Amino acid sequence: MNRSEQLFERAKNVIPGGVNSPVRAFQAVGGRPRFIAKAEKEMITDVDGNTYIDYIGSWGPMILGHNHPAIREAAMEAAGRGLSFGASCPAEVEMAELICQMVPSIELVRMVNSGTEAVMSALRVARGYTGKNKIIKFEGCYHGHCDSMLVKAGSGVMTSGVPDSAGVPEGCAKDTLTAVYNDADSVRSLFSQFPGEIAAVIVEPVAANMGVVVPKEGFLSELRRICDEEKALLIFDEVITGFRLGFDGAQGYYGVTPDLTTFGKIIGAGMPVGAYGGRREIMEMVSPVGSVYQAGTLSGNPVAMAAGLAQLHILKENPKIYEEMNAMGDYFRAELSQLVKTAGAPCRVTGVGSLSCLFFTGEEVVDYRSAKTSDVSAFADYFRYMLAHGIYVAPSQFEAIFLSSVHTKEDVDRTLTVIEDYWKEKAH
Ligand code: PLP
Repeated sequence: MNRSEQLFERAKNVIPGGVNSPVRAFQAVGGRPRFIAKAEKEMITDVDGNTYIDYIGSWGPMILGHNHPAIREAAMEAAGRGLSFGASCPAEVEMAELICQMVPSIELVRMVNSGTEAVMSALRVARGYTGKNKIIKFEGCYHGHCDSMLVKAGSGVMTSGVPDSAGVPEGCAKDTLTAVYNDADSVRSLFSQFPGEIAAVIVEPVAANMGVVVPKEGFLSELRRICDEEKALLIFDEVITGFRLGFDGAQGYYGVTPDLTTFGKIIGAGMPVGAYGGRREIMEMVSPVGSVYQAGTLSGNPVAMAAGLAQLHILKENPKIYEEMNAMGDYFRAELSQLVKTAGAPCRVTGVGSLSCLFFTGEEVVDYRSAKTSDVSAFADYFRYMLAHGIYVAPSQFEAIFLSSVHTKEDVDRTLTVIEDYWKEKAH
């Protein structure tokens, strides 16, 4: 047994399934998960000394690559002044000011500790503000593991064989309505079935937890129109897209303004951070100003804020990062599409900016149903080949390929060569 295997065996004795988040267990692809010793820029090294080009980037936060010196130093410097105060600190103010300045739809923002918490809190605010209970989410969108969102969810839930989670009381799920991604009519139909009862529509503006499914032209603006007509709030879950598609996230990229937005991942630069924000009158519902209670012992943690701020400042001061990274994404998808065509592989390439996906299906992927037509065992075979050849992509068909600003053209070309070799070998 190598060291990863030994660690996995030990872990299984004391951690459910040996992992602290299900997708890490490699269940959908087989094989043994790698335990990671260190990561630097776009490379990740496991405890057995194998090094991979990393296309997970901690599931999104590491947009500037791993172990960025300025981020590391900011976190270490903050740690030198104390790990947590349980009282307000200057970095929280700076973080909130920066988010409000960069994302025009946000006038007030509250820091939390994960994307899940951000979503859970935003939903509570939406319900408190509108006085209505029902929430529309989309099949295949993942909004964290809070009870009410584990209904037709994406990400690990999509491959675990349990579409909904045990332990979620019916009462929690009954106010969650599910619509079809990229199908505004399915949303309209829910509003007509439940008139005056729907508090909010929550959406991943680019769905990145059923693979990557981009919004069709007009889909997001149609959601905006429907929510305005129905006096419901539109919530963009930008936990993945926030500060990734551009400084103003998917809302800036697609020019659609939500009422509330959730963030996570990039704003913490790898530290446990989330945030939710929106229009002042809505966010003034939040305690201690308003009657919606939400709190956190470690929220606005000084070390997490320092790391996140360092990352956001670099992005803000170097807007070319987005241009170049998104162009690299375009290049990757164009070349990969060409490879697919040449190999005659029954695959679809999707994505936008630095988010991409290779679906193992011949069908155009526009929603959960079409994403599910993917041949997951073909994906698993491809995944194992990639890993064996030094390329670390997500161990599931239904996740994104994340580019960072430090992935080079050489990295991308090497990756494309490995994919090409894979299909050549398959053809024999
Ligand atoms: N929302 C989206 C769109 C996500 O992708 C995720 C996690 O991947 C979450 C919410 C939950 O965030 P966290 O895992 O930090 O709780």
